[in-house]
Amino acid sequence: MSNYKIATLGSHTALQILKGAKDEGFETICICEKDKRRPYESYGVADYIIDVDKFSTGFFEIEQQLIDSNAILIPHGSFVSYIGHERMKDIKVMHYGDKHILEWESDRTKERQWLLDAGLKLPRVFSSPEEIECPVIIKFHGAQGGFGYFIANNTQEFYERIKKYPNNSGYAIQEYIVGVPIYTHYFYSNLTGELEVMSFDKRYESNADSIGRIAAKDQLDVEIQTSYTITGNIPVVLRESLLPKVFEMGQSVVEKAKKLVPKGLYGPFCLEAILDPYLDFYTFEISARIVAGTNPYTEGSPYTAYKYDVPMSTGRRIAREIKTAIESGRLEEVLG
Ligand code: AMP
Repeated sequence: MSNYKIATLGSHTALQILKGAKDEGFETICICEKDKRRPYESYGVADYIIDVDKFSTGFFEIEQQLIDSNAILIPHGSFVSYIGHERMKDIKVMHYGDKHILEWESDRTKERQWLLDAGLKLPRVFSSPEEIECPVIIKFHGAQGGFGYFIANNTQEFYERIKKYPNNSGYAIQEYIVGVPIYTHYFYSNLTGELEVMSFDKRYESNADSIGRIAAKDQLDVEIQTSYTITGNIPVVLRESLLPKVFEMGQSVVEKAKKLVPKGLYGPFCLEAILDPYLDFYTFEISARIVAGTNPYTEGSPYTAYKYDVPMSTGRRIAREIKTAIESGRLEEVLG
């Protein structure tokens, strides 16, 4: 094990990934944009810091250093968005997780097909504004963290509101589900075949989560429009009777993925859903990697506490899986 190091980009869930790796006995490498290294120094999670000017161009310039260090790279949300899905395939350093699944995650049509085939309930989608017949949420392609999404109740309202975005690069129109957001963090081990539910979160979104602080009349008077810019994550403990359903949903997504890509979906992933008053989950997205909603659980979650006798964050769970793979001569199985 001492031959290997765990590496990731300094953003998103890097603190958790690197801390978890150290807890499992690995040395760690953090690749940092020069002006963003302070947290990684301050919290002491990185044994080595490699500076780059910008992740998007700099990663491939320093990749050989990672290969020489026998580093295993852990992808996270920011990593994929900085590098881009297409260029993920060019990565040569050891990479945890099957890269092929990212293609299914990043393409809205493929993602939808995957989740529907797995038997999940999804919000309806409308292929043109003329078809709108219920409240909808408009999601711009490439929107960073939900910024600029808007709600429309009908076709006319859609055309009125889209005027504010003349240079948009396309959008999806999705049924707006009235309910509460629940993000389920799973871990699937392809070494043991076991699916774990690690934790749940909801997001703290600006301004959606603060609009209720203003009277409805004032909202109308100053023409406030809802936006869903992600700013942080809040822990959630789910009503226990919903847990069987949560396991069932995760399991069917994993089983379906086995038919889609060579090694399937394994490691951390997240189903992002709205839970309506009838307790139906409407899943609107899957993240096939660690999500930032696991960050509140550096010391483990109420659920991991049942299963592990040490604080088990998702970051640490990844490191433990890699450690098990190395120790049992199965590392190749978890790399992709
Ligand atoms: P997304 O960028 O798809 O993760 O969505 C950003 C946020 O918009 C979510 O965290 C939810 O709060 C909200 N949202 C997305 N899709 C829906 C939907 N179909 N119904 C209700 N709220 C949604």
